[in-house]
Amino acid sequence: MGVFSEETGHEQVVFCEDKRTGLRAIIGIYSTALGPALGGTRFYPYATEQEAIHDVLELSRAMAYKSALAGLDLGGGKAVIWGDPEQIKTEALLRAYGRFVESLGGRYITACDVGTYVQDMDIIARETRHVTGRSEVYGGAGDSSVLTAYGVFQGMRAAAEHVWGSPTLRGRRVGIAGLGKVGKHLAGHLLEDGATVVATDISEKALEWARTHHPEIELVDDTTKLITSEIDVYAPCALGGALNDETVPVLAARIVAGAANNQLARPGLDQDLAARGILYVPDYLLNAGGVIQVADEIEGFNFERARLRVAGIYDTTRRLLAQAEAEGVTPAVAADRMAERRMAEVGRLRTIRV
Ligand code: NAD
Repeated sequence: MGVFSEETGHEQVVFCEDKRTGLRAIIGIYSTALGPALGGTRFYPYATEQEAIHDVLELSRAMAYKSALAGLDLGGGKAVIWGDPEQIKTEALLRAYGRFVESLGGRYITACDVGTYVQDMDIIARETRHVTGRSEVYGGAGDSSVLTAYGVFQGMRAAAEHVWGSPTLRGRRVGIAGLGKVGKHLAGHLLEDGATVVATDISEKALEWARTHHPEIELVDDTTKLITSEIDVYAPCALGGALNDETVPVLAARIVAGAANNQLARPGLDQDLAARGILYVPDYLLNAGGVIQVADEIEGFNFERARLRVAGIYDTTRRLLAQAEAEGVTPAVAADRMAERRMAEVGRLRTIRV
């Protein structure tokens, strides 16, 4: 695959290599129309170079849409480091990577993703200013799952209002697949709001957490049982691809609103959900709390300010659902349009010389 021939729409794709440390990284910058391209660094043992390129192109594009829709003055980027972090992650490798990030002069700002942690960002920060998601002793914001869950809850309230007329989950049954960092906090918000929570997880530790902290959560054996049971809302909070050709036809919920990235296993499933009368709220709108948090950290983290910004997901979801209805398209299509419009309209302002 040639990067040019694919016409992916990316502004810049940078290949970085440092043989001595074994660093092989690719930085993808999809757009800087709204500001520097922010997105995490995924450290992963891809089977092939092709796979690594594909991932960085997809992920950086998704970040541009997520930040645009979240109202941030940030573009979209992402990086991958190709290799097994268990085997090759060293101080020298991370610092070599940091120097490549610095060489982009702030066009790309990095953060944590799969395989990288706040401590890694602290090391990278010794070579570049363009890094966020650092540990708390360095002014970092800490675990982003608290605000991510808060954002998902706010978007779910807006969806409930759209469908049932009132912005609350009181009296509804909400099924959560994945009681991990985000799922746990989401369960807390829902219980507090008066919802009944049904959940599943493959980890015994996660189930034990539920039994100990929230015995009122009904636990079921697996996701199939969860989604075919009498639930009003389905919140995928585990891995991507939760909505696929097996799950969509049997899903009992009226609303899908969860934290997991890339919930739709293939394009067109949003239409299938709509045809079944199920309202799917786009994942990248709902789970923007994490990026809003790391973006806030760039200005010097303030939890209350970040929380207020994340609370805005409620209004954005309301607007989006109304717009989708008015335009006769699915919320997924409306979300892409809103993000593209903001990138074009606000991004254009940079052509006004100041
Ligand atoms: P996590 O790893 O802490 O939790 C995921 C949970 O899902 C785990 O408890 C795991 O055991 C469970 N799980 C995995 N496979 C499952 C299956 N087949 N059925 C049921 N449970 C299963 O991750 P997290 O930080 O809570 O993130 C959850 C999702 O939200 C991910 O898709 C992530 O990309 C997305 N997300 C997270 C954040 C954040 O700030 N943490 C931000 C944006 C998006």
